[in-house]
Amino acid sequence: LLQMFQPLSFLGVMYREIKQSMTDVERMFTLMHRPKEVEDAPDARTLAVLGGEVKFEQVSFAYNPDRPILHDVSFTIPAGKTVAAVGASGAGKSTLARLLFRFYDANQGSIRIDGQDIRQLSQDSLRAAIGVVPQDTVLFNDSIYYNIAYGRPDATREEVIEAARAAHILDFIESLPQSWDSVVGERGLKLSGGEKQRVAIARTLLKNPAILILDEATSALDTRTEKAIQAELLEIARSRTSLIIAHRLSTVVEADEILVMDTGRIIERGRHPELLARDGVYAHMWALQQQAEEEVA
Ligand code: ATP
Repeated sequence: LLQMFQPLSFLGVMYREIKQSMTDVERMFTLMHRPKEVEDAPDARTLAVLGGEVKFEQVSFAYNPDRPILHDVSFTIPAGKTVAAVGASGAGKSTLARLLFRFYDANQGSIRIDGQDIRQLSQDSLRAAIGVVPQDTVLFNDSIYYNIAYGRPDATREEVIEAARAAHILDFIESLPQSWDSVVGERGLKLSGGEKQRVAIARTLLKNPAILILDEATSALDTRTEKAIQAELLEIARSRTSLIIAHRLSTVVEADEILVMDTGRIIERGRHPELLARDGVYAHMWALQQQAEEEVA
């Protein structure tokens, strides 16, 4: 089985690299444009967040009717807990996040937050309760101050500075010649992958959502930055209901539940030690990843 996974894993890396070059544009679309099919119901209600429990019940979904993507997916993230989705590229992990954010509606089944079906909620109230740290953060061609304050436009300057400090990007900002007024984005200062993620973390800290979606970067950050950012992400996930789309298994070791996905189905689930003991797909993915890390070291 291990032999079978190696080429698959290699293909996964290739696919990701090709995809990576397209993601900036793609993300811009997914973030800025609401697909037309999702509209508020005429009597849409405002989400009332209690603890922030997220429940997927027998969710099936297809982007195109002739190609089903998710099949009968059920899981619960109890308030304040963390669930991580892992699995091969294309397994449907990010689709879970897109459905929770309601870029699309499930074809079957339901998604509830504190018991409220998200189809009956106003999209504004739903999205106000959810923070997303995407793989690739879209920066506006504007000051770095604007880019962080965007997380909560009515935040005070002190709050914006505090968020930057907590996201470990304050020193960097203050070291720039134009400090907070530095223009970033396509036409301004280009930030590194790690810096962009820190901007996203600062935005999210400022927004302070009850529910968090973390889409772990697949792009190569240097190991030190990656470890630091992983630690920061886990820290902000600790106090909220979190769904982590993980590409590195080291991120999920502490998760309250790990969902191992394969072609749109959950094929294994449990905590890290349980899944290792089961000696199935997850245990093999783990062994492979450990082996790969040893080779690099
Ligand atoms: P990765 O680890 O590479 O990010 P993933 O597990 O998150 O992958 P998804 O992005 O959820 O996978 O995609 C699941 C499947 O849905 C893939 O086969 C993909 O091609 C397809 N898909 C994703 N977005 C769309 C879309 N907008 N329209 C049609 N198909 C899509």
